[in-house]
Amino acid sequence: MMSNKDECPKCKNTDFAEGTDFMPIKPLNSKFSTGSLKIYQFCLKCGEIISVRVENPGKFRGR
Ligand SMILES: [Zn+2]
Repeated sequence: MMSNKDECPKCKNTDFAEGTDFMPIKPLNSKFSTGSLKIYQFCLKCGEIISVRVENPGKFRGR
């Protein structure tokens, strides 16, 4: 996204919330890892998901 202000691309609302589905994303090569939750940021008006990020990306750093 080019915009640097938080505005919903669908309805132009500027109120957002964050949540998770409690489904951890895991490293491909480490099936025993606990992984890390995904955090969704979504529009409070229309529900459009603005971004998804990994809560603890450091867990995926190679070793
Ligand atoms: Zn919206």
